[in-house]
Amino acid sequence: MSAGITGRQGPIAGHIPFHPEVERLLASPPTVFIDGQRVQTRTGSTADVADPSSGQLLWVAAEADADDVDVAVRAARVAFQSGAWTVHMKPADRQRCLWRLAELIERDAEIFGQLDALDCGRPYATVAGGDVPASAEHFAYYAGWVTKLTGRTYPVDPEGMHVYSVREPIGVVGLITPWNYPLLMASWKLAPALAAGNCVVLKPAEQTPLSALHLADLAMEAGFPPGVFNVVTGNGSLTGAALVAHRGVDKIGFTGSVEVAQSIVAASAIDLKRVSLELGGKSPNIVFPDADLERAVEGALWATVGNSGQSCTAGTRLYVHSRIYDDFVSSLIAKASALTHGAGMASVDHDLGPLITSTQLDRVLGWIDSAASSGATIAQGGHQLGGPLADGYFIEPTVLTDVTDDLEVVREEIFGPVVAVMPFTDVDEVIARANDSRFGLAAGVWSTNLATVHEVASKVQAGTIWVNTWGLTAAAVPFGGMKQSGHGREMGEDAIDLYSETKSVWMGWT
Ligand code: NAP
Ligand code: MG
Repeated sequence: MSAGITGRQGPIAGHIPFHPEVERLLASPPTVFIDGQRVQTRTGSTADVADPSSGQLLWVAAEADADDVDVAVRAARVAFQSGAWTVHMKPADRQRCLWRLAELIERDAEIFGQLDALDCGRPYATVAGGDVPASAEHFAYYAGWVTKLTGRTYPVDPEGMHVYSVREPIGVVGLITPWNYPLLMASWKLAPALAAGNCVVLKPAEQTPLSALHLADLAMEAGFPPGVFNVVTGNGSLTGAALVAHRGVDKIGFTGSVEVAQSIVAASAIDLKRVSLELGGKSPNIVFPDADLERAVEGALWATVGNSGQSCTAGTRLYVHSRIYDDFVSSLIAKASALTHGAGMASVDHDLGPLITSTQLDRVLGWIDSAASSGATIAQGGHQLGGPLADGYFIEPTVLTDVTDDLEVVREEIFGPVVAVMPFTDVDEVIARANDSRFGLAAGVWSTNLATVHEVASKVQAGTIWVNTWGLTAAAVPFGGMKQSGHGREMGEDAIDLYSETKSVWMGWT
C-alpha cells in the first residue's frame, strides 16, 4: 500500500450506499481500456487509488508503461487508418454515437456521481447534478458538429480554378487530464476530438481513473468502433510521458500545471506534435462600490472556495474598492466560516470536500504559512480540519488580508480555498494590478456601471471575463487562457479547430 494510505475503505455509516455497478467496478481487477475492451497491462504493475475524504484505499489501478501505451496508440492508429470511424461510418451515424454517449452519461449519473465523489472527494450532489449533465451536454453539443464540418470555396485567380477547403481529423490524439473534475475535463477534450473524426488515447490523472474507464465502457455501448476510444491509466511521468513521446501520436490535448505543460512542449519538439494546453490561473476578481454587494460577496466566495479552490479559474486575487473593503471582508469571512464540509459520499448535504492528496494539503498549508510569515493576516481559516474529518485532506476556507501584490500567495496558483483580499481605489490602478500576472485564464468584474464594466472587460487580459457572475461555462462558448494559462481555446467551434486540420484543394478544370 502506498505511503499515506491507511487501510482499505469499507462501507461507511452515514454515507450514500454504493450503487451495485460502483461496487462491481471497485471489485474489478486493474485494467486499461484498449481496442474496445478492458485488458491487463503487460507487466501487471499497479498504483493505489485513495479516497481523499478518508485517506483510505479505494481501488488499485493499472499502471501502463511505454509498451502498454504503444499497444493503445497502435489500436487507435489501426482504427483511424481503417476508416471505421470516418470513411465507413456515415456522419449521421457518428453523430448518433456521440448523442447516445450523452444519453448514457445521463443514464449513469448516479454511477459517475459516485465514482468521481469517491476518487476526488467532490460532493456527490455537485458531480451527479453538475459535472454529469455538463459532460452529457458536451457530447450532445459536439454530436451536432459531426454533420456540420464543412469547408469553404475561394474566389481566386487564375480563372479556371476551383479552390476549396475541407476539414480533416488530425489522426491519433493523446488526451491528458487532471483530477479536479475528472469526468468533465475528459469530456471537454473527448467530445470535440471524436466529433472531428480522430481516434483517441485518454490518460486520466492517476488519482482519478475510475470515471474515464466507465466512460470507455459506455462508448462501446453507444456503438463506437473498437480502437476509437482507448484509456491508459498510470502516473504522468510514466504513462503520460510515454504518450507524449510516442511518434504515433499526432496531437496532445492537455489540462494541468504549467510545469508539466513545459515538459510536454519540450518533448513534443521531437516530432512537432500539435499541442493544446489548458493551464492554471490566478484570476483577478474586481468589486466596485456600485455592485450589488450581496451578490458580489457570494460570487467572490464561490469563485474561491468552489471545489475547495481546486479550479483553474479560481478567483483568488480579490480586489475590493477601498470604500467598501472593510464591510466586504467582514461579510466574506462570515460566509466563509459558515461553510460545511463532508466526505464526497456523505449523505448529508455539505458545501465542500477535501483537497485531492495529503501532498496537496501540505502545499496549500505551506502557502498560507509563507504568506503569514511575510506579514499577511489570516483573517479566517488557515488550518486542516480535525474531528471526524481528520483522516481526510480537508482545509478551512481561508481569507488573507494585509497582503501585498508581490507575495507568492498573490502570484502563484494555490489550488486550495485561499483568497487574498486587497483594496484598490482607481480603475486604471486595478486593471494594471489585475494584468500584472503571468496567467490570463479568467477574470471577474462586479459593477452596475456599464462604462466601468466595458472598460475592465476590454482591458483585462484573460480568456474569459465574468461580469456580475462567476464560473459559468457552456459547451458552445470558447474557453481557454492568455499568457501562461494556455494555448488554444476549448469548447464551441474553436475546439473543432483544435482537433482538425484544414486542407486546401486547387483544382484545375483542364
Ligand atoms: P499535473 O501534474 O499537471 O497533472 C495533470 C495531468 O498531467 C495528470 O494526468 C498527470 O498525470 C499528467 N502528467 C504529469 N506529469 C506528466 C508528464 N511528464 N508527461 C505527461 N503527463 C504528465 O497537475 P497535478 O500534479 O495534478 O497538480 C499540480 C498543480 O497543477 C496544481 O496544484 C495546480 O496548480 C495545477 N493544476 C491545474 C489544473 C487546471 O485545471 N488548469 C488542473 C490540475 C492541476 P498524474 O496525475 O497521473 O501524474
Ligand atoms: Mg502531478
